[in-house]
Amino acid sequence: MTSLYEHCNLCPRRCGVNRLRGERGYCRETAALRLACASIHRGEEPPVTGQGGSGTIFVSGCNLGCTFCQNWQISRYADAETMGREVSSEEFAAICIALEEKGAENINIVTGSHTIPAIAEGIDRARERGLKIPVLWNSSAYETGEALEILSTKVDAWLPDLKTLDPALASRYFNAADYPERAKAAILKMLSFPYSFIIVRHLILPGHLESTREVLQWLAHLNLFKNTKNRAMVSIMTQFTPVNVTDLRMPYMRYVTQEEYEQVLDWLGELGIEEGYCQEPVRNSGWLPDFGRRNPFSARGDDASELSSPVWHWEDT
Ligand code: SF4
Repeated sequence: MTSLYEHCNLCPRRCGVNRLRGERGYCRETAALRLACASIHRGEEPPVTGQGGSGTIFVSGCNLGCTFCQNWQISRYADAETMGREVSSEEFAAICIALEEKGAENINIVTGSHTIPAIAEGIDRARERGLKIPVLWNSSAYETGEALEILSTKVDAWLPDLKTLDPALASRYFNAADYPERAKAAILKMLSFPYSFIIVRHLILPGHLESTREVLQWLAHLNLFKNTKNRAMVSIMTQFTPVNVTDLRMPYMRYVTQEEYEQVLDWLGELGIEEGYCQEPVRNSGWLPDFGRRNPFSARGDDASELSSPVWHWEDT
């Protein structure tokens, strides 16, 4: 399966570079699988967090590269390699097992679209070693159907973003005018897999409420929440936080306002979208991760375990 890196067409960017020889395309990653951290996370949607927490594994690098990325240290460091360390499929499997042993209810793989072959191999190794909990795929949805097929028998639930359906916004913020069509196709593909469970996540972009309305209309039009009862949900996120403030492509570097939040709630009601979750408005940056810390999700260090408990960090020896 690593031959897929030889002329990389793994994601819609279709760079065609030979990552096995160390060439780098848009995601800037070679064929090596690099991880940033793994932890028991308790801040996901209730069915994802469960009682024991979600076993999140943050992958380094990204094939989309949003200008406002909250995880910019691991996704798109401006002039240096992103934070992270190369792991083998055996080490990936060991991390999965460690998360399970610490009580994780699932393995939640975050932003791994550019490393699907390596992650698929790592999941196989983990299953061979006895991993029993479900595997969740947490991605931007900027993915091809062929790549998702690789995961179809290995992933139990899907957590795709649907960031916008406006090609102009997608071009300005992700340099991917085709994101809307690609993401819709990816979500339909995920829904086509038997027994799959899906939570479509949408982050409200301050000042771009029309984009949110378009996303909600598509989800309602899809009848996602009627035909796929108990199998599909929507999750509205309000946590947009100004980072990377020197990037002038983002005109609205502020939090979502109460008025914007209430407008979105109204639309959810008008469109009859009932199955899902809506985050309370976020008003400060205290939750922002810092992947330079062993517990990236704690501003106070490792003792603040209520949101996240670290299991593996890229600087561990
Ligand atoms: S995975 Fe990376 S190298 Fe491959 S096509 Fe996508 S952006 Fe390009």
